[in-house]
Amino acid sequence: LRLIAEKSSQDPTITTDAHQVEVAANIGKIQAVRDAVSAGAEAIGLLRTELVFMAHASAPNEQTQEADYRHVLDTLAGRPLVVRTLDVGGDKPLPYLPVPSEENPFLGLRGIRLTLRRPELLRQQLTALLKASDNRPLRIMFPMVGRLEEWRAAKAILDELLVSYPCENLQVGIMVEVPAAALLAPILAKEVDFFSIGTNDLTQYTMAIDRGHPLLSAEADGLHPSVLMLIDQTVKAAHAHGKWVGVCGELAADALAVPVLVGLGVDELSMSNTSIPLAKAQIRTLNFANCQQLVHKALACDSATAVRELVSAEQNRAA
Ligand code: PEP
Ligand code: MG
Repeated sequence: LRLIAEKSSQDPTITTDAHQVEVAANIGKIQAVRDAVSAGAEAIGLLRTELVFMAHASAPNEQTQEADYRHVLDTLAGRPLVVRTLDVGGDKPLPYLPVPSEENPFLGLRGIRLTLRRPELLRQQLTALLKASDNRPLRIMFPMVGRLEEWRAAKAILDELLVSYPCENLQVGIMVEVPAAALLAPILAKEVDFFSIGTNDLTQYTMAIDRGHPLLSAEADGLHPSVLMLIDQTVKAAHAHGKWVGVCGELAADALAVPVLVGLGVDELSMSNTSIPLAKAQIRTLNFANCQQLVHKALACDSATAVRELVSAEQNRAA
């Protein structure tokens, strides 16, 4: 696989039965976009802007942000950029944006809940993005959306700005990382342009296990059938409305999860730069129809362990 990975890193990623899956990069540093492109990324599937902010000693103003986003779009040379608006709070503090201390930060003021209460921050970031876009393929998504009202409030702020800064090639979506959003996907799918499933948080919130817990985090496995059911429902809802779905959590780079996510119909897998060549090589060995059969069995499993055993057995049979 490693050899194949090195040979064809820039080509599109297509299964043996002609099903295409986009393989994209997760980045948190502006400079990482160059490596993403050399690694064969077909897009940036997740720009974690809170990490871009953290690289600045003080809050970046609109011009500084615009320059950062412009650099990423320039380097991408026509490939799409999926940007997530500030996802601060929970485990991600920002020194110059203090949030009150909370008993349960993961269940508190984080992501869109925070920026909707500081709309000037959201407006400034969205303005910088729209100004940097120059009609290149920009996709903006909001983190931690759990309620329809949050999506609509964030979208309304963006729509207001679009009057002054029109943007030809824009899509607007949400992260699906709160179980409520996955369950509400049939309704949300009518309004958004795309979903990006954050399996790190989706697993944490579905299993009620802190993703960083020293003893328990291994039990928060995104291949748990309950999480797969939520992904399945999200993909079906999106596709019923002609919308696309990405997965940008760590599950996207897990070799045992890739055939399952492909079989579930996920359109884009986004992962760290270093995982891209192998993931592309792996997808090229897969048969989409077989992956769909595999998903049928995985959804009927009773544990994450059973799903992992099922996929391993399938891979050994194919080898
Ligand atoms: C996720 O929750 O899966 C995700 C991609 O977002 P983050 O890891 O930045 O919370
Ligand atoms: Mg998340």
